[in-house]
Amino acid sequence: MGVALAVELGQRGIACALVERRREPQRIPKGQNLTQRSVEHFYFWGVAEELRAARLLPPEFPMSGIVAYCDLNNEYWYAPPLREIVNSYYFQNNERLPQYQGESVLRKRMAQLPSVEARFGWIAETIEQDVNGVRVTIAKDGGAEREVLEADYVVGCDGGHSTVRQQIGIERGGADFNELMVLALFRSRELHEKLKRFPPRSTYRVIHPDLGGYWQFFGRVDVGESWFFHSPVPANTTRDNYDFHGLLQKVAGFSFACDFDYVGFWDLRIAVAEKYQVGRVFIAGDAAHSHPPYGAYGLNNGLDDVVNLGWKIAAKINGWGSDALLQTYTEERRPIFKETAEDFIEAGIQRDKEFLGRYSPERDRAEFESAWKEHANAAAPRVLTYEPNYEGSPIVFGPAGGVSSAHGSHTFMARAGHHLPPQLLSSGRNVFEELGPDFTLLAFDADDRTILAFTDAAKALNVPLKIVRDSYSDGRRAYEASLILVRPDRYICWSAVSAPADAAAILRKVVGRG
Ligand SMILES: Cc1cc2nc3c(=O)[nH]c(=O)nc-3n(C[C@H](O)[C@H](O)[C@H](O)COP(=O)(O)OP(=O)(O)OC[C@H]3O[C@@H](n4cnc5c(N)ncnc54)[C@H](O)[C@@H]3O)c2cc1C
Repeated sequence: MGVALAVELGQRGIACALVERRREPQRIPKGQNLTQRSVEHFYFWGVAEELRAARLLPPEFPMSGIVAYCDLNNEYWYAPPLREIVNSYYFQNNERLPQYQGESVLRKRMAQLPSVEARFGWIAETIEQDVNGVRVTIAKDGGAEREVLEADYVVGCDGGHSTVRQQIGIERGGADFNELMVLALFRSRELHEKLKRFPPRSTYRVIHPDLGGYWQFFGRVDVGESWFFHSPVPANTTRDNYDFHGLLQKVAGFSFACDFDYVGFWDLRIAVAEKYQVGRVFIAGDAAHSHPPYGAYGLNNGLDDVVNLGWKIAAKINGWGSDALLQTYTEERRPIFKETAEDFIEAGIQRDKEFLGRYSPERDRAEFESAWKEHANAAAPRVLTYEPNYEGSPIVFGPAGGVSSAHGSHTFMARAGHHLPPQLLSSGRNVFEELGPDFTLLAFDADDRTILAFTDAAKALNVPLKIVRDSYSDGRRAYEASLILVRPDRYICWSAVSAPADAAAILRKVVGRG
């Protein structure tokens, strides 16, 4: 997340330093599924094409997976549709590639930005702040060399064991499932051949009654050779005291040869920070929220964190944002991740656990088959209702009583607090291609007086505002609003069908000066 934030800030011309102890991205595939929203970020960072070119799967290879009962040889399996079913609500389609590939693309982009200083091979040791600024002591390659960096703000994008979070004393809540998980990377052409009984897919997830709702899953790193695998293992497992090849074959339900490249462990735990900011120090990504890789929420939520925070820090430094604007980072992002953790990740584990406890083909085949069908059919509605939004944000004109939430719906209506849906303009270009780097007012069939009211107010408040004018016709009518104010992070903060009484009051509120 640190590199992504550096790109976001660097593109806004903000002077910043990235401190990262690794000289190269760690070659563990980790976060693979990028949502449409995440790929939109890459588009605005100017590297969406480079991202897609860095894919290891062939173009068009399906990104979704198979779900099987007990093992991959079982007669009960299904291939649920995944995020691609909401592609049309976003400007970019979703993508799948190892996290290190995406990070390499971002590192190259970051190197082009003159206001970003990259300190690879440096470790952040201590963070001290007062009302005037923050000082970070960094050590080179763990050796004796030390430097102190001074800044207006620090953002800890330093992962689940975040030094920054610990030093500023932010506690975490959440659920510990007390399960040790293995992550194995291996190569096997035979596994690829033997999975040909399924339609081509990227992941293969097994749910087993012995494991409650905890997943075992294989994922492709490429097609034909490289794989990763996750599974619960006994608490005292080490690299040397366990038969990992035996476990892989048990989960597959057949024997196959393989060569291991890496075996590591992680704890199945959900942890959400109590707050994301103390004074001038923020946390983002896994530093703010850690969780199992169930549903591809980690990387994508982290990218949304830094996109949410980046423009706010830039606005404050450039003099048109307020401290209240910075506080909305926690107010907007934390409820979304808390609900993601509780209602999508934890609830998913519980749902599978209940299903596996209640239904069994040995006990009642007909009942199991009908429940298995329901299990399969429940996947798509969950994708459709996962729609993070900021309806309750103090800098958004959301509905009365609105709350910021991970739950929502997908629609082409322009709703304050929600992601801007794409539409074509009469020029044939997508509205996303016309958005400015800061605020944009989409004005359809608007009169000059209304436009002038906004441009005058923006000038007076020093808020950068781009106006995009067009006719209120064709697909744009689906917005059900002829005036739409879009934030720098492509969320709508205000929309209306007629001119407002006070354009300045609207702009003041959306930059935290209301
Ligand atoms: C196996 C696996 C599969 C996953 N699959 C998905 C998926 O499909 N989709 C998804 O969205 N998410 C997935 N995730 C989660 C995703 O990988 C994480 O959410 C993501 O890596 C978080 O990024 P981050 O930058 O916040 O933290 P990290 O990736 O942990 O990065 C933190 C960085 O900070 C550096 N660092 C730490 N401390 C210091 C210090 N003191 N000084 C300097 N540098 C420091 C580290 O070297 C590291 O590079 C998966 C995770 C795992 C483990």
